Amino acid sequence: MQNETKKDIKSLLPGELEAEFAALGLPKFRAKQVFKWLSSGVSSFEEMTDLSRDLRAKLDGLYDITSPVVLRRQTSASDGTEKFLWGLADGNAVESVLMCYDYGNSVCVSSQVGCNMGCAFCASRGGKVRDLRPSEILDQVLWTEKETGKKVSNIVMMGIGEPLDNFDNVVRFLRLINHPLGRNIGMRHISLSTCGIVDGIDALAELDLQLTLSVSLHAPDDETRSRIMPSNRSCGVENLMSACKRYYEKTQRRISFEYIMIDGVNDSDRQASLLAALVRPIGGHVNLIPLNHVEERPLKPSPPERIAAFQKELERMGVNVTVRRSLGGDVDASCGQLRRKAGK
Ligand code: SAH
Repeated sequence: MQNETKKDIKSLLPGELEAEFAALGLPKFRAKQVFKWLSSGVSSFEEMTDLSRDLRAKLDGLYDITSPVVLRRQTSASDGTEKFLWGLADGNAVESVLMCYDYGNSVCVSSQVGCNMGCAFCASRGGKVRDLRPSEILDQVLWTEKETGKKVSNIVMMGIGEPLDNFDNVVRFLRLINHPLGRNIGMRHISLSTCGIVDGIDALAELDLQLTLSVSLHAPDDETRSRIMPSNRSCGVENLMSACKRYYEKTQRRISFEYIMIDGVNDSDRQASLLAALVRPIGGHVNLIPLNHVEERPLKPSPPERIAAFQKELERMGVNVTVRRSLGGDVDASCGQLRRKAGK
């Protein structure tokens, strides 16, 4: 069990750590030292060998260092993608995925235990158990590096959960991983994917973080979108696109729109035209994703020739479009296949 009386030290930014340490009568450089250790993935103060024994014992009495355990590790035979199921201190578990590309190694992290959004095509639906803390999101990156020996250069927030439904903790995670004293991963190497929480998109725009925002659109009309994404019922496509426009105007960062191709649901030429009309005015990029198989869902992927025709229609209408290559399918590590339990 997590120690509730101790503070979660890895969720603190260097400035906050300095303030904490100042109250303990410790100099500023100690905070920097400890922050660097924490960002390197240590699991105890004992490992911080340039701190005196007394200081290590004192900090250990006050602070908790989160450290997940590997409940399961699966490696894709076809492309080497690795999926981890991490056990958290309170007995919950989440998954993350390591994907290796020519340009570097990317980790897809989860932001919540479970998810409340209820998207019809996704294995992660079934209710949120709790938000992940900033340290627990960070640990997915640090522990992947520790377990695999591979350096992570890119982060995608596309695992379990809705990042903008855990806004403060997610933003804190971004600041932690981006910090020059820590893992120093550039915002331009980070993508955040949302099902379209309008208030969250506006709040993110205000922060002007220079990350890549991905919006899971998946349908250009309210009737279809509300059917497959219940979160659309309270907001609607028009409101969502207005928020995207505000985001683009404020940050000048192009938004990537994710669009799962589902047979007979959202893959008609008419829907391609509607989609083009939505994204073209804000220079949005469309990422077509062949639906990944999720056992208990009755939906089927669009046939390849339908995806090609849909892509062609978008291109004809002047939209920048790519078809996403799916990795890790043989170990259920692709988009929408992550869960918070083994084999369920
Ligand atoms: N809640 C966030 C992030 C998690 S989902 C969001 O909705 O964006 C990450 C991406 O995987 C989203 O684009 C999501 O729609 C997609 N996805 C979910 N289920 C999928 C499936 N079965 N096949 C392909 N992509 C899927």
